[in-house]
Amino acid sequence: MTVQTDVQTFPLYINGQWQPASNNETFDVINPATGQLVAKVAKGTAEDVNKAVHAAREAFDNSDWRNMSPKERANILYQISYAISEHADELAYLEAISSGGTVRRIGGNDILQMVDLFQTLAKFVLEYEFSETLPSPPFPGPAHNFIWREPIGVCAAITPWNLPMVIATWKIAPALAMGNTIVVKPASYTPLSTLKLAEIISEVVPPGVINVVTGSGAEAGEALIKHPNVDKVAFTGSTEVGRRVMELSAGTIKNTTLELGGKSPNIILEDADLSIALPGSLFGVFLHSGQLCESGTRLFVPDQLHDVIVEQLVHLASKIKPGNPLDPNTDVGPVISKKQKETILSYIEAGKQEGATLVCGGKEIKVPGCEDGHFIEPTIFTNVTNDMKIAREEIFGPVLSVIRYSEVDEAIKMANDSIYGLAAGVWTKDVNNAYDIARKLQAGVVWINDWHMLRNDAPFGGYKQSGIGREMGKHSLDAYTQVKHVHTSMVPELHRRNWYGLLFSEK
Ligand code: NAP
Repeated sequence: MTVQTDVQTFPLYINGQWQPASNNETFDVINPATGQLVAKVAKGTAEDVNKAVHAAREAFDNSDWRNMSPKERANILYQISYAISEHADELAYLEAISSGGTVRRIGGNDILQMVDLFQTLAKFVLEYEFSETLPSPPFPGPAHNFIWREPIGVCAAITPWNLPMVIATWKIAPALAMGNTIVVKPASYTPLSTLKLAEIISEVVPPGVINVVTGSGAEAGEALIKHPNVDKVAFTGSTEVGRRVMELSAGTIKNTTLELGGKSPNIILEDADLSIALPGSLFGVFLHSGQLCESGTRLFVPDQLHDVIVEQLVHLASKIKPGNPLDPNTDVGPVISKKQKETILSYIEAGKQEGATLVCGGKEIKVPGCEDGHFIEPTIFTNVTNDMKIAREEIFGPVLSVIRYSEVDEAIKMANDSIYGLAAGVWTKDVNNAYDIARKLQAGVVWINDWHMLRNDAPFGGYKQSGIGREMGKHSLDAYTQVKHVHTSMVPELHRRNWYGLLFSEK
C-alpha cells in the first residue's frame, strides 16, 4: 500500500491480509483541517470481529509465537522499531490528515516515542522475570515452587482519535512483548495510521498476531469486548464510554485496563520562574489544540501574581499559530470534527454564562487555505471557580480555566476536588516543597516544572475516574501477563502423614 493524495479505500487487516468488510460497507475519513474526504475505510461488522478474533486465537493457540524466547521476542521488537522509523513519513502523513495533529509534533515526538517504546520494552523483556523460584517453606512443607508469568491470550485494543498511533502502540507493544496476540479497533475518525502500522508490524510477526477491525464503537467495539475468545480488553477513551466498556467486560469477567479522561490541575507557586512556568503551562494545555487527555486545563495561580500571570499568558497565547497540520510552521491544527468544535464552543458559552471572564480567544477561526476546517482560538478564562462546569468537565479543546488561590493548601484541595486524577503539575524553584505537594496530589503522574513528559520506562495511568491500570514501563508488561503458581511436592511421604492428615485421621 502506498501513500496517495487521492481518495484510497482501506480494507480491514485480518490474519496478515487486507479484506473488505463482510457487508462491503465503508465509512468516510475526513481531514479535519480541510473538510476533504481523504479515505474510505471498511466498516467492520460483528462477523468481521469474529474472523479477526479467530485469527488471533489461532495464532496464539497453534503457533510458536507465545513460546518464543525473550531474546527472539526482543529481536522482533527491535525489528518493529526499525520498520516504524523506515515508514515514519508515511505514518506521520496518514496521522496528520486524519487526526489534525501537526506533522511537526507527530514527526518530532510521536514517531520517536513509538520507536523508543518498542526498544525500551525489548530491553525490559530481556530482564523480565518470567519465572520466579520460591524458597522451600517450613510451612506447609518442603516443595519446589515457581511463579510463572504467562501471556493472557487474545487482547482487544480500543483506541481514541487524539493520538491514534501512539496510544495503539501503548497496547500493541506490551501485548506482543509478552507473547499475546491482538485485535485493534481504532477510532472511526482516525483509522488510517493504525492500519498502516499493523501492515508494518506484520512484516515481522506471524499472520494473525496483529489484526485491525475498523468500524463503529457501537458495533465492532462492543462485539470485540463481548467476544468469548477475547481474554483482555485495553481501552483508551472517554470516561463515559469506559464505563460501558467495563459493563460489557463484566459479562465474561475480562481482564480490563482503562485509560480515561482528565481535568488536570496545574499549580504555579509564588516562587516559580514565570519565564518557564507560563510558556510551560500553555504548552501543557494548548498542544494539539487541547485534545490530550493529560492537558493541564485548570491553572491555579496565587492571588498576588494573578494579574501579571494572566497578562503574560494572553500575550503568549496570541503567538500560537493555527494552520494546516501538514505545514511544518503550524503550531496547532484543527479540532477533530464539526461536532467536537460545537461541543467546545458550547463549553465556552457555558463559561461566560456562569460568570467566568473570557480574556483570550473564545471563537472559531477561519484559517486561509483551510476554510472548511474546524479551528478554535486558544481560549483563556479568568475568574473561574472550581465548581463551574468549565472547571469540572473535560472539554477536550483549547480552553484554559485560571483559578485564583490564596494558600497553597487551598490550591491542593481544589486540585483534588475532581472526579478525575490523570495528571497534575507544580511550578516552583523549591523542589523539596514540590515533592511534598506531589505526595498530596491525587494523580497518576505529577510533573514538576514540566508538562506532557511521558517516558516509555515510566508508568502512565489515572487515579479515580481517569482509569484502571497503567501503560508503558515495566507495569505495562505485567498488565499483559497472567500469573501461574506451580507447586511440586518434594517429600510425598511427609505430606501423606501431615498434610493429608487434615482429612484422614488414620495414618
Ligand atoms: P471515545 O468516544 O470514548 O472513543 C474511544 C474509542 O471507543 C473509539 O475507538 C470509539 O469508536 C470506541 N467506542 C465508542 N463507543 C463504544 C462502545 N459502546 N463500545 C466499545 N467501543 C466504543 O473517546 P474519543 O472521543 O475517541 O477520545 C477522547 C477521549 O479519550 C477523551 O476523554 C480523552 O481524555 C480520552 N483519552 C484518554 C487517554 C489516557 O491515556 N487516559 C489518552 C487519550 C485520550 P468510534 O470512534 O467508532 O466511536
